[in-house]
Amino acid sequence: MIRFLKFFFILATTIPIYTQSEYIYILGNTQDAGMPHIGCKHKFCLDNFTKYEEFYVTSIAVVNSDLNKYILFEATPDITYQLNNLKNNIFQEFLLPEALYISHAHIGHYSGLMYFGREALGTKNLLVKVLPKMSIFLRKNGPWSQLVDLNNIQIQNTKFDESNLELSNIHVTPIKVPHRDEYSETAGYIIKGKNKKALFIPDIDKWEKWDKKLIDLVMKFDYLLLDATFYDMEEINRDISEIPHPLVSETISLLNTLSKEYKSKVYFIHMNHTNPMLDPDSDLSKSVIKKGFNIARLGQKLYL
Ligand SMILES: [Zn+2]
Ligand SMILES: [Zn+2]
Repeated sequence: MIRFLKFFFILATTIPIYTQSEYIYILGNTQDAGMPHIGCKHKFCLDNFTKYEEFYVTSIAVVNSDLNKYILFEATPDITYQLNNLKNNIFQEFLLPEALYISHAHIGHYSGLMYFGREALGTKNLLVKVLPKMSIFLRKNGPWSQLVDLNNIQIQNTKFDESNLELSNIHVTPIKVPHRDEYSETAGYIIKGKNKKALFIPDIDKWEKWDKKLIDLVMKFDYLLLDATFYDMEEINRDISEIPHPLVSETISLLNTLSKEYKSKVYFIHMNHTNPMLDPDSDLSKSVIKKGFNIARLGQKLYL
């Protein structure tokens, strides 16, 4: 009996006391153009035309399982499969998000909106939260303007550094990040739950171009989902100034002096099809993990 009670005591002290009803759910980890990539000749891409493994474009849901509701970040070209994944693995029924945040007007981040229109689901007043330039882009350009005209979506403007309350306990704050802003500004997001705080930066040009220091952010946040488009220059066969991103190798060396406890807060996401980190079995994935960092994978839950 004593042994039995001891077991329960150990169990009770190791289980976190906070309720775990709210979490980030990873719905995709690739760069905008997805995996497999159009016209690609790499083995990993070619294999994934036939293996039907699940690689989707970068997106996350924030779920409140008590309320049976969620909010979604990014409308990707893979949204059909991503919402089906939520149905199969989280809700057991098809549910639309309570709100949809879109970071910027590059194809992987907003083009999935087309599936809410007349030719597809034909939603009614789906709440889409975007920054002012993105809002104008959607309202003024077809086919997106038709979604607005037919009330498939209802756009609500957000502001940088202004918090939005979602799902009772979640605070979402868009923050400005430097990126190629051809059609819209670009947002990163602070997602604050009751217990933990996450930073979602799917796309950024270079850490040096930002007015924030990455190392300070690692101190402040519990989870950092960071742009990992390219691991190093070997993957890039064109001028990187056309498509700037922090290389994962640069991000790792910026954070290299930190202890494993801090490094483990980092989840690399938004990987290009050329980045071997997409393949969980690659030597590079193993070495990144061994250094203490994480790689975002479909279906992971990060409790808030
Ligand atoms: Zn992107
Ligand atoms: Zn982008």
